[in-house]
Amino acid sequence: MLLENKVAIITGSGQGIGEAIAKKFSREGAIVVIDDIIQERIDRVVGDITQDGNPVVGINADISNYEQVQSMMQQVLDTFGNIDIVVNNAGITRDVTLLKMQEIQWDEVLAVNLKGAFNCIRHAAPVMKANQGGKVINISSAVRFGNIGQANYSSSKKGLIGLTRTVAKELGRFGVNVNAIAPGYIETKMLDSIPPEIKKMALQSVPLKKAGSVDDIANLCLFLASSQSDYISGQVIHCDGGLVMP
Ligand code: NAD
Repeated sequence: MLLENKVAIITGSGQGIGEAIAKKFSREGAIVVIDDIIQERIDRVVGDITQDGNPVVGINADISNYEQVQSMMQQVLDTFGNIDIVVNNAGITRDVTLLKMQEIQWDEVLAVNLKGAFNCIRHAAPVMKANQGGKVINISSAVRFGNIGQANYSSSKKGLIGLTRTVAKELGRFGVNVNAIAPGYIETKMLDSIPPEIKKMALQSVPLKKAGSVDDIANLCLFLASSQSDYISGQVIHCDGGLVMP
């Protein structure tokens, strides 16, 4: 098993990509922390993992809130004595074109997608520094290069890359790897909300001519969380069927 006894916090793991990452990590021996803001989602995922007989804890913490993240990290430390892996996965969209975008739509997306990742890294980093090791994985997006209706989302996902690279440079000396994953079109509720004809057209622009699965992202995340990627840091790895070739 690739993550035996590693303590992994996955934000926004009550459904979708985060859930797939948490379940994959758990099957690889990790002790997983299911963070979300919707209790029913936390309970369902915790229930599934518990049924498999693996250690798991659910925490209802809003990652955009500095104090809530601080107490989540403290609770994890008190319960399991360590924090080895943080996956900054929780993200939201508030899509609207710039001329119609309200301040609140900008603020909410930046608060969760970018400040949320800062909050988690800020509170986990001292523990990783003390342990001289750790893995941070930030979930960015292919649309960080710009997309109509997503000035807020695209900015937040591009900002995550700046955060990834800076923190990789700062924490590298403490044995902490920091990387980002940039998913393209992934089969989730987010993709289901696109009208079928637009979805079909969008997928035509993907060299592999299909959407990815949540497991495609979870597999890459597992690699970045494991010792198999020990000499990789500060990178943005695309998992998008070839959509973006920067
Ligand atoms: P999702 O909406 O299905 O799941 C996100 C989870 O995060 C939800 O359970 C939600 O309750 C939780 N959440 C929201 N705000 C939170 C907060 N403040 N604190 C803690 N939890 C919170 O999303 P998804 O499609 O699984 O996407 C996961 C990540 O991947 C996001 O960062 C998203 O931007 C990114 N991404 C997704 C796609 C895609 O095609 N689905 C593509 C590129 C990037």
